[in-house]
Amino acid sequence: MSDDDKKDPKMPDPDEFRKTIEGMFGQIGKSGFTFPGMEGDVFTQEEDGDATVEVEEDNTLFEFDYLPRDIKAHLDRYVIRQDEAKKALAIAVCDHYNHAKAFKSMGEDGERLELQKQNVMVVGPTGVGKTYLVKHIAELIGVPFVKADATKFSETGYVGGDVDDLVRELVQKADGDVSKAEFGIIYIDEIDKLASSGGMIGRDVSGRGVQTTLLKLMEETEVPVRNPSDMRGQMMSMMDMQSGKKGKENINTRHILFIVSGAFSGLEKIVRKRSQASQIGFSAEQSEPAMDKELFKHVTTQDYIDFGFEAEFIGRIPVRVVCEHLEAQDLEAILKYSEGSLLRQYEREFEAYGIDVQFKDEGIARIAEMAADEKTGARGLMTVGERILRDFKYELPGTSVSELIVDGDLIDNREEHLDKFRLLGQDLVVEKARQEVDAFIREFKDKHGVVVKLEDDAVALLVKTAGEQARSVFQVARQIFRDYQFGLKLIQKNTNQKEFVLTEAAVADPDKFLSELVVQSYKDA
Ligand code: ADP
Repeated sequence: MSDDDKKDPKMPDPDEFRKTIEGMFGQIGKSGFTFPGMEGDVFTQEEDGDATVEVEEDNTLFEFDYLPRDIKAHLDRYVIRQDEAKKALAIAVCDHYNHAKAFKSMGEDGERLELQKQNVMVVGPTGVGKTYLVKHIAELIGVPFVKADATKFSETGYVGGDVDDLVRELVQKADGDVSKAEFGIIYIDEIDKLASSGGMIGRDVSGRGVQTTLLKLMEETEVPVRNPSDMRGQMMSMMDMQSGKKGKENINTRHILFIVSGAFSGLEKIVRKRSQASQIGFSAEQSEPAMDKELFKHVTTQDYIDFGFEAEFIGRIPVRVVCEHLEAQDLEAILKYSEGSLLRQYEREFEAYGIDVQFKDEGIARIAEMAADEKTGARGLMTVGERILRDFKYELPGTSVSELIVDGDLIDNREEHLDKFRLLGQDLVVEKARQEVDAFIREFKDKHGVVVKLEDDAVALLVKTAGEQARSVFQVARQIFRDYQFGLKLIQKNTNQKEFVLTEAAVADPDKFLSELVVQSYKDA
């Protein structure tokens, strides 16, 4: 959702408002009508103009035919490590959609089907693939997917809208198909920030309020397709009524899968403390800070409650799994083996300038080590990759260089390599400066009828000055020699000289240079 969407709708001028409504209603009666803000022709109208509009629904979802191992195999292509999470998610997703399939096939009787929804909690530090996993699952099975951040919620709503907006966003993602949205995935990150345990971690009581609101969505509730507090939404509802459209007014959340995640820092302390008390066997000195696979096995529902969650809330999230911290060697594997590897992106970026970039094993290992030091999981790869390659992306394009080998040497001696390329770049700068100086010379001759030439040293100083002043060589030359025509014409009168050579000294001190020339010309005369 863009920031604009979150702002309160402003009341338009009454006349403007009337025209807008008339304009919008005018559209009804034409077929293939698309609501503004929604993509695709979702609504169609019957030929006889009897104003009955059917909503096209996409039922392909219920061809859901994946096995947990299929989903895991798909995830393995992109996500390195996190095997437990892959399996748990794959099973939960299959259970969820198989249930939905059964429900759908039973028609009215589906209501009788008992359902304990497999909402999932993924615990793990930042940048280890939590979002990435969910995104790829949604893509594979073709359901709409919405990601939100729990820190954006407040008890009354989140930034101008309310928690229900998440569900409406699913409809948007499903191109207006409510039925499809009803089987989407909502992913909420930083869920741990909703904890309210005695002020120890997390935030104030409002977190509890948000938990209650989310709880309703996770169970089963009806969310109006049009936000009751949004004027545009209400206008659309009016139009729906006018046109006799039979589309759904509400979105049922029964089959929406909720996946929540968070780092839960502090949870490990709660588990360790309890474990010690009950002699499960963790020593107090255990210094491993984050939640790991071993410790996660001992996390109980009570630990989440102690952390600050409502029992009912945590009870609605039966599937819990940990995503582990990534070591340097994991980051290396991500670069080398993930189909979504950043290296492919860099290769494309350089290719756009006709440069073939090749990452050698040693270079990849170095990047991974540096990224691990960032302590932001795989996100560190992006930070480090950018830091290492940015200057090369500046220096190389336009030079004759067509290959960049990223090996250990390039990374360790980055500045040396860059200097080499900068020299090549310098030639380009000089060539470009020459062109600008030529343009200046032409302009000077056209305006004043005087021919000047600039020595190489003069050009070099112009380039330097232009760089310092962040202006073009042409502009600088124009400014430095702005009154030169007067002096030069005087000299021409005295000596009949046709052409003037401007040296580095002329650029450095134009007045002194010119006055010396003039004095000399009187002597010569
Ligand atoms: P978070 O765990 O904070 O949700 P993300 O899933 O958003 O982190 O990860 C950020 C990016 O880092 C992803 O888009 C992906 O490119 C990369 N990434 C993170 N973890 C992995 C992983 N285990 N395997 C492959 N790529 C990963």
